[in-house]
Amino acid sequence: MARKVLVLGEARDGSLRNVSYESIAAAKTVSEGGEIVGVLIGDNVSGLAQDLISYGADRVAVVENEKLKQYTADGFSQALLAVIDSEKPEGVITGHTALGKDLTPKIAAKLSSGLVSDATNVEAVGGNIVFTRPIYSGKAFEKKIVTDGLIFATVRPNNIAPLEKDENRKGEITSLSVDIKDLRTIIKDVVKKVSEGVDLSEAKVIVSGGRGVKSAEGFDPLKELAKVLGGAVGASRGACDADYCDYSMQIGQTGKVVTPDLYIACGISGAIQHLAGMSNSKVIVAINKDPEANIFNVADYGIVGDLFEVVPILTEEVKKIRIHS
Ligand code: FAD
Repeated sequence: MARKVLVLGEARDGSLRNVSYESIAAAKTVSEGGEIVGVLIGDNVSGLAQDLISYGADRVAVVENEKLKQYTADGFSQALLAVIDSEKPEGVITGHTALGKDLTPKIAAKLSSGLVSDATNVEAVGGNIVFTRPIYSGKAFEKKIVTDGLIFATVRPNNIAPLEKDENRKGEITSLSVDIKDLRTIIKDVVKKVSEGVDLSEAKVIVSGGRGVKSAEGFDPLKELAKVLGGAVGASRGACDADYCDYSMQIGQTGKVVTPDLYIACGISGAIQHLAGMSNSKVIVAINKDPEANIFNVADYGIVGDLFEVVPILTEEVKKIRIHS
C-alpha cells in the first residue's frame, strides 16, 4: 500500500542534521512507493529544502514564522499539525533527537495515533511496517507495528543509512502560512556550550575515557587521538562524576546514545549503563589494563594495557598512515 509520509528536517546552525536524511531513508520504506514530503519549520529555513530533495524527498513544505526561530513544543506542534492537516499523510517520521523526542509523542497523542520511538530499523513485511527498537538498555530488541491512526516514528541517529545524494533531483518547494498563536513559553536566549571539535552525537569516530584516565589532563592523549582520527571525545559517567570532564560528554543510559563507526573505550570498565549508550557502535576497541574488564565482552578488538602507553602509540601510528595515504 503506497503511503504519503512526512519527514521533519531538523535544522541546526544553518544546516540539516544527518538524522533528517536518515529519516527520509526510513520514510522510503514506510511509504512503500508513495510520496515523501519533507517538512521544514523555523525562521529562514527554506534554503535547506533542496538538501531534503537531494536526499530523496519528492517535495518540501516549509513553514516559516519568526515565532519559530527557536524550537518550542508549543510553536512547532502548531506548525506540524497544520502541515499534517493540509497534507493528510499516512506517516510522519522524525529523528530520535531532543526535538523529535519532545515533539513527536505530543502530536501522535493529539491525533490518537500510534508511535514507535527510537527505531533502529524499519521493514515492510506483508503490508505491515515493522520497526525494530532496542529495549532493556540495548540488551534485547523488539519489533513493533502501529495499529491505529497515522504511523508515527522517531529514528535513532546513525542507524539507518541515508539514500544516495543526488543534487540534480528536482522537487516542488511550497510555503505554508500558519498563524502561530502566542507561545506559552518564549526562549529569551540560548547560551551555547563551547565544545571543541566534532559533535559527539554525529561523530563517526569516538574516543571515550573513563575513570581510568585519572584526571582532566588524562583526557589529553584521548583528544590527540580523536583529532587525528577526525572524531569526538566522549566519557563514562565515572569520568564525569570524578569531575575529569563535562557531563555533556557522558555516554550511556543516562547520557548520550551513540552509534559511530568506531568507538575506542579507554579506561572504561564496561558497566551495563555505559554499554547502553555505545554497544551498537559498528566497531568497538577497548583499552583496559584489567583483562577481566566487562568492556572486552562487547569489544571487537581488545588491548590489555595502560592507556597512557597505548593511546599515544595508536596516535603516532594513525599519523603515519595519514601521511602515507
Ligand atoms: P570504573 O568502573 O571505575 O572503571 C575504570 C576502568 O579503568 C577499570 O576497568 C580499570 O581497569 C581501568 N583502568 C584504570 N586505569 C587504567 C589505565 N591506566 N589504563 C587502562 N585502563 C585503566 N555510566 C555511564 O558510563 N553512563 C551512563 O549513562 C550511566 N548511567 C547510570 C545510571 C544509573 C541509574 C546508574 C546506577 C549508574 C549509571 N552509570 C552510568 C554508572 C555505571 O554504573 C558505572 O559506575 C560507570 O560507567 C563506571 O565508569 P568507568 O567505567 O569509567 O569507571
